[in-house]
Amino acid sequence: MPGGPKLLKYFNRLFESGADTLKIRMKIEQHHLSINPYSRSGKLLHEVKTIVMHWVGNAGSSAETNRNFFESRKDGKQGYGSAHYIVGIDGEVIECIPTSEAAWHVGSKSYTVYTRSYLTDGNPNYCTIGIEMCHPRSEGAFTYATLFAACELAGSICEEHHLNPYRDITTHKAIVGWKDCPKHWCENPGELQRFQRKVAGSMGL
Ligand SMILES: [Zn+2]
Repeated sequence: MPGGPKLLKYFNRLFESGADTLKIRMKIEQHHLSINPYSRSGKLLHEVKTIVMHWVGNAGSSAETNRNFFESRKDGKQGYGSAHYIVGIDGEVIECIPTSEAAWHVGSKSYTVYTRSYLTDGNPNYCTIGIEMCHPRSEGAFTYATLFAACELAGSICEEHHLNPYRDITTHKAIVGWKDCPKHWCENPGELQRFQRKVAGSMGL
C-alpha cells in the first residue's frame, strides 16, 4: 500500500465519513520471522478465539523496523515477544508469523478474569491472533491509515475464523490486566468500540 500525506488525508476522510463498505485493497507483505524459540516457535495455534490489538510503543518506528526487532530476538538476548501482524503508520501491513502458528504477544504470569473465564485457563497465545499498530508519537494515537488497514485486516480475520468483531476483538490490557496496551485505547476506551464498529461495518454487519 503506498504511503504519503495525500493517502493519509484520504484515509482520514474515509474513516470519518463512515465509508464502511469501501474495500481498500490492503496489501499484506509476508516477511516471516525465522523459526526460533523467542519470537517464532513454529508451534501451532489450537484455535482462533480472539484478535488482540497492540501498540508497538516505539514512536515513529515503521512496521519493517518492528518486524526486524522481532527477528533480532532469535539469539535470545532480548527476551520473548512477537505478533502475527504489524500495521505501519502509512497503512502498510507485514505478516511476521502465519496465523496457523502461535505468536508471543500476550504472555503473562497472570491473566484477567475475562481471559480465564472466557478464553482459556492455559496460555492465551495459543488461541489469539496479535496485531501490532505503529504510531507517530509517544502519546500513542494511531493514524487513520493505520486504523483503516488494521480494520480491513481484522475484518478479514473475523471472516475467516467466524469471529464477531464486537465480542472477539480486544486489547492486550483486557487479556493481562496490567499492561497499558494500546496506550491510547486504554486512556480512551471509546476507541476500541469505535474500531469494533468499523470492522463490523467493513464486514457488512
Ligand atoms: Zn501489547
